[in-house]
Amino acid sequence: MKRVLVCGAGGFIGGHLVKRLKSEGFWVRGVDVKAHDFSVSAADEFVIGDLRDAQVVNNVLDQRFDEVYQLAADMGGAGYIFTGEHDAQVMHNSALCNLNVLDAAARQKVPHIFYSSSACVYPQGIQTDPEQTGLPEDSAYPADPDSEYGWEKLFSERLYFAYQRNYGIQVHVARFHNIFGPEGTWCGGREKAPAAICRKIAEASDGGEIEVWGDGCQTRSFLYIDECLEGVRRLMESEVSGPVNIGSDERVSINELVEMTAAVAGKNIRVKHIPGPLGVRGRNSDNTYIKDILGWSPQAPLEKGMRQTYAWISQQVSAR
Ligand code: NAD
Repeated sequence: MKRVLVCGAGGFIGGHLVKRLKSEGFWVRGVDVKAHDFSVSAADEFVIGDLRDAQVVNNVLDQRFDEVYQLAADMGGAGYIFTGEHDAQVMHNSALCNLNVLDAAARQKVPHIFYSSSACVYPQGIQTDPEQTGLPEDSAYPADPDSEYGWEKLFSERLYFAYQRNYGIQVHVARFHNIFGPEGTWCGGREKAPAAICRKIAEASDGGEIEVWGDGCQTRSFLYIDECLEGVRRLMESEVSGPVNIGSDERVSINELVEMTAAVAGKNIRVKHIPGPLGVRGRNSDNTYIKDILGWSPQAPLEKGMRQTYAWISQQVSAR
């Protein structure tokens, strides 16, 4: 049985990844600084540990795993990343996790390591148009991400490729574009747009009003968790190092996402636009490369994922 380590297993994507790996028959050790917020981990072993501490990482990586997935990061949506208040922590915490995990993995001669980078690495100057047609992987340079979170991701991507070059460890780097789904953060300040919109609409009455940051014309694409994991597993089974976009190319404005969610909820909702942290004006995934190298790209319509996500978040709101 193959042995796998998932770092960040108490988080949204890590929690789902553990379930997916278990369904494929892997033996899984999960590690996170906290337990999963919404479900009992499916991991064979779940270690509570801080990956900023090299000794903790050495204890967790005490053997040669067949695969390591490094998803642990200090992260959140626009309300966490773009206010500037958390910049030092975000860079310090996430960089330390990556430095420690990668170094221990190389010492243990782990053959394959996955790293979750982000669409936030792309330069802000090419994301000023809401009609953004898609960000190909090679457009990340010359670099100018719009957040320190993005700069840390870019630094860590380079770190992974340096370890591949110097220590022969095979790395697989994906740039996730706005992953969403059930069992993700939906309140408290770190939630991202799909979860925040689902929560606000679940809390509103029919005919009620919700607040949206900015004019709502900013565009993004959002990828449902199951498709994200399909991409991760396909990438991990390949010889491809990346970086590879794992995202949807179904671009929507935030106003359109609100309309779609209100229709899913069966409610008439008015939008009040208020000032708030926004990020870039237009962002979308370019899936040419992933189709080329993996013969696959995400296809499920956004609305399908929003139905599943809304159902779960409205349950959470009712149970509060
Ligand atoms: P998440 O916040 O739900 O999960 C991250 C997990 O890392 C959390 O459970 C957190 O407790 C853990 N963690 C943070 N610091 C740690 C530490 N010092 N030691 C141990 N664990 C620690 O976020 P997610 O949405 O599941 O994201 C997973 C990864 O994917 C992250 O690296 C994130 O940057 C990346 N990513 C996510 C998205 C997205 O849309 N969700 C987009 C781009 C990239």
